[in-house]
This record gives sequence, structure tokens and C-alpha cells, in this order.
Amino acid sequence: MFRSLRLKLTLTNTAVTGLIFLLLLTGVYIVMQQGFQRQSERIMNSIASDEGLGYSPYITRPHRPLDPNYFFVRVDSVGNIIDNSPNLTNTSEEIYALVDKTMQVEKDMGYISIDGVSFRFLKSYSNFRKDLLKIVFYNTQPESQMLTRLLVTIITIGLVTVLTTFLASLFMANRALIPVKKSWERQKAFVADASHELRTPLAVVQTNLELVMGNKEDTIESQLYWLDNIKAENIRMSKLVSDLLFLARSDSHEVSAPMNEFPLDVVIKETLSSFKLICESKNIELKDNVYTETNYYGNEGRIKQLITILLDNAVKYTAPYGKIAVGLIKSEDNIEIKVSDTGEGIPKEHLEKIFERFYRVDTSRASKSGGTGLGLSIADAIIKEHNGRINVTSDVGKGSEFLVTLPNKRKYH
Ligand code: ADP
Repeated sequence: MFRSLRLKLTLTNTAVTGLIFLLLLTGVYIVMQQGFQRQSERIMNSIASDEGLGYSPYITRPHRPLDPNYFFVRVDSVGNIIDNSPNLTNTSEEIYALVDKTMQVEKDMGYISIDGVSFRFLKSYSNFRKDLLKIVFYNTQPESQMLTRLLVTIITIGLVTVLTTFLASLFMANRALIPVKKSWERQKAFVADASHELRTPLAVVQTNLELVMGNKEDTIESQLYWLDNIKAENIRMSKLVSDLLFLARSDSHEVSAPMNEFPLDVVIKETLSSFKLICESKNIELKDNVYTETNYYGNEGRIKQLITILLDNAVKYTAPYGKIAVGLIKSEDNIEIKVSDTGEGIPKEHLEKIFERFYRVDTSRASKSGGTGLGLSIADAIIKEHNGRINVTSDVGKGSEFLVTLPNKRKYH
């Protein structure tokens, strides 16, 4: 797919550039050709009207030497050559042949060719002797040689340009496709992981349903174990689906969360209190280090979701009798939320990857604790939406610290 896309991009680029160049160079050629034609026409007209060239007694001004490619002859009514310009280098046979051929042409201006050499001619009748015809010739050979050289140069430049553009476009297309390729691969992996994650709860629901259906006479109460399993998997699936939906929406920037000013310290305290019970049941000490009143401009719901994810992980990965602490630090430019625990910690090689979708350090343990590996990627998306950043420091066996830094966009007093 990417190969053909790259080729298409490259060819389109080359074709467009080639066409632009072709138009430009054709323009240059036509302008040059017409320029030459106009110039020769002007010179021929001036020679035709200049009666003094070796003939008229009225002309007194000196004449500049005539370009050897321009010359003229005067012929009488029967075609005898009476006179010619002083710069004539051709033999008299050649001149007679030229005059003969020109006389056969009815037009006053045109082209004739002798021995493969093309001449432009212009016939003009003398003002003094109406029986005399002046024919001005222009040897177009040097001009056509110049135009041929120009054409060869233009074609060479055109070919080199097309080749260079092709190579440059190939290189650019390769570079331009790198992020597209990466995001495509990510998307593919995401869909594969999502289907894989959904397959397990669906299979569990299916088997449990079959068990219930196989014992139709039994009461609901006696089948409560299987029904509870179905319910738990259903809850897990709907959480998974809503997490996936959140990430898909945040990827496409479909809806940006409405931002408002709210008391961040209060929101953190509220979230903390919802974890009190579970911490007590696990004998985990939950320390509240939120002392400063802090108003923050952001999306309250999402910030609450972010703190919930970090606290939920802290509880999940901290053994009984451990400690969890949440702090809030406000400075001139930033607001920092710190969630630390004395849990199992995260090995260094995993630290960078834990924000990737579906990434779990220990897959078997994480799925036992209900983890899908989406929590931290959602947290990351929320932080990015608020133009913040997150840092993790962790020591295996000692604990982890997640530090969220949000810009203090509106500074409150
Ligand atoms: P999960 O739903 O599996 O918790 P997350 O995206 O929230 O997914 O976390 C990714 C992984 O990072 C987890 O599987 C876990 O291995 C590790 N992790 C996250 N938070 C902590 C923590 N506080 N202590 C130890 N490991 C953690």
C-alpha cells in the first residue's frame, strides 16, 4: 500500500514539476524564436527601404557595414541582376538561382531554400525606378543553428530537471510517509490489541452463559456464581469500550473538552476520599499532602479521571501495608500533582513504554488486577490536552512517583 502511494506521490510531483518546466522552456524558446524573426524582419525592412545602399544619389550618410547574412540584389523587369549589395559573398550562379526561385513565389515575403540552406526574402519596388525590384535576402542558417542549440539545451535541462525532481520527490515521499506509516502501524496494532482484549471477556461471557443455559431448571440464586462472572466481564468490557472510544476521539481531536476554572485541591481531595475504603481494606496508608488552595483552568471531569487513573494504579500495584501519597504544588508558572507509592515499582526498561496503549509490564499480573494497559495512555492524552507533561521515577521494590506538571495558564492570587 505504501509502495504504490509513494510511487503515486513521486510521479505526481515529477509530472507537475516537469509540466511547469516544459511550459517555461517552451515559452523561452517561442520568445527567442519570435525575437529573432522580428529582428530579421526589422533589418530586412530597413535594408529594403534604404535606397542609398550603393545606388541612390540622395543618401549621404555613411552606412554601417552590413551583416554578411543580409544582402540584396536589384533586378529589372525581365530578371537581370542590375546591382547588388557590396557584402555579397555568394557566386553569381547561386545569386541567379536565389533570384529565380524568389521570382517564382508570388508573395512579397517568405522563405526559399537552396541546397538545404534556408533564406528569408523581402521584395520591394524602388521609389525612383518603378521597373527595378529590390530583393533583400537573409540567410537563416546561423539563426536556426542557434535555435537548434537552444532546443538541445532546453531538452537537456528538461531531462535533468525531470530526473532530479523524480529522485528528490522519491526522497521527499519517503520522508513524508514515515509519520503516516508509523501512525498506520500504530492504528493497526491498536485495532488488533483492542479486538484481542475484547475476545477474552466475550469468551468468558459465552462459556458462563452456556453453563447457565445448560441448567435451565436451576434457580437464579444457585447460578449466581456464573451470572456474577458474566456481570464482571460485562463491566470490564464496557470500561474497555469507553476507554477505546476516549482514545479514538482524542486521536481525531473530535471533541475538545470544555475548559473551566475549578478548585483543583478540592477535586483531588474528593478523588482521594473515594479511594479511602479500598486502601483501608488493603491496609494501605493514603496520605493527603494537598495544602494549598489552587484554582485551575481545565476540564474538571478529565482532571478527575487523570487522578483516578494514577491513584487506581498506585492501589493496584502497592502491596498491603504500603503507602500512597498525593501532593499538590503550585508555582508561578506551573501546577504539579504528585502521586507516589511504595509499591512494586517499574523496571527502568519499561518506564518509557508504560504510556503506550495496551502496554503492561507484567501481562499476567496486570490482567488479574483488571488492568488493560490503557489507563496511562488515557492519562497521557488528558495531560497533552491540557498542554502538560508527566514524569515517572521508579525503583523496583521501593515504589514509583508520577509527577504531572500542568501550565498555570491563569495565575490566581
Ligand atoms: P493497567 O490498566 O494495566 O494498569 P496502565 O496503562 O494504567 O495499565 O499502566 C501500564 C503499566 O504500567 C501497568 O501494567 C503496570 O505494569 C505499570 N504501572 C502503572 N502504574 C504503576 C505503579 N504505580 N506502580 C507499578 N507499576 C505501575
